[in-house]
Amino acid sequence: MKIDLRSDTVTKPSKKMLDAMYLAPVGDDVFEEDPTVIELENTSANIFGKEAGIFCPSGTMTNQIAIRLHTQPGSEVICDKLSHIYNYEGGGIALNSLSSVKLLEGDGGRFTADDVLKSIQPDDIHAPITSLVSIENTSNKGGGCCYDLKEIEKIAAVCKDKNLPLHLDGARIFNALIAKNERGTEHGKHLDTISICLSKGLGAPIGSVLLGSKEHIHKARRIRKVLGGGMRQVGGIAAAGLYALKNNVDRLVEDHNRAKQLANVLKTCSFVKGLLPVETNILVFDLNDDIKQEDFLQKLKKLDILAVGFGHQRIRFVTHLDFEDSQMDKLTRVLKEY
Ligand SMILES: *Cc1c(COP(=O)(O)O)cnc(C)c1O
Repeated sequence: MKIDLRSDTVTKPSKKMLDAMYLAPVGDDVFEEDPTVIELENTSANIFGKEAGIFCPSGTMTNQIAIRLHTQPGSEVICDKLSHIYNYEGGGIALNSLSSVKLLEGDGGRFTADDVLKSIQPDDIHAPITSLVSIENTSNKGGGCCYDLKEIEKIAAVCKDKNLPLHLDGARIFNALIAKNERGTEHGKHLDTISICLSKGLGAPIGSVLLGSKEHIHKARRIRKVLGGGMRQVGGIAAAGLYALKNNVDRLVEDHNRAKQLANVLKTCSFVKGLLPVETNILVFDLNDDIKQEDFLQKLKKLDILAVGFGHQRIRFVTHLDFEDSQMDKLTRVLKEY
């Protein structure tokens, strides 16, 4: 029995999802003529109360398009030092937008409105031009923790006051909505652009959608084309995303419950030095000094259990829809006996 907890991206499309993909009507999406893509973009936009959406191959692309959209060369993007846009997008902010970052020292990847206020650059020719604030919810490197909606409201108020756009890297926003029992529209009204991923916890094989105003998304189509992200008859893969939005959101609670159960097991394990609080489907824990990270991962691998290193002595497990009770039982046994 193979157990793959390296990421929630490892899921395979189910039979029902594949059927939906097979049956989807398609057209040329660069001409905005693919009915399934249009349905996916509109459905996603409606969930968050935004005007429009644009379907892209990856969350990196939707984030990078948003950053390009809101900045000009010489800009500065305010984001957390743990953020995906800074750590895991190949330096794309510099490469694609000729801009730099102002890194905030948040709490598990989350910063406050006050932090934002203090980091906005003055109108001084020496300084880069603060052009965008970007938050990540849930925070990946922060161990899947969620923003407090009230703090997002406050950050949005600061942004509005200072005339700064606010972007959400919402690769796992549905995990946050389920964990906090909140609605997409409650978040969407505070955000200018939102990137959502269909290929993480939602279980689609590919795809992200960038959401925003009609004007933003119109501009985004041009940037997507420049980046080589214009796609043709992609209704088949959009159908997987639509299927995921309809069928795989509410079930995220199961992933969260399994992550919490695993956390309770890990807390009793002598090889665990510490564990970040578990709010959603990500578990991040540190190993005791007497055990080597590489040895730990290798030993699990020999037992057909995959996980990833997440920094010095740090391990990440991510639960997802292909991680079921029988695998949970095996993993629990292995951890207890380790
Ligand atoms: C996975 C992820 C993305 C996007 O990644 P892609 O692999 O490019 O789809 C963006 N932000 C966060 C926080 C992520 O975890």
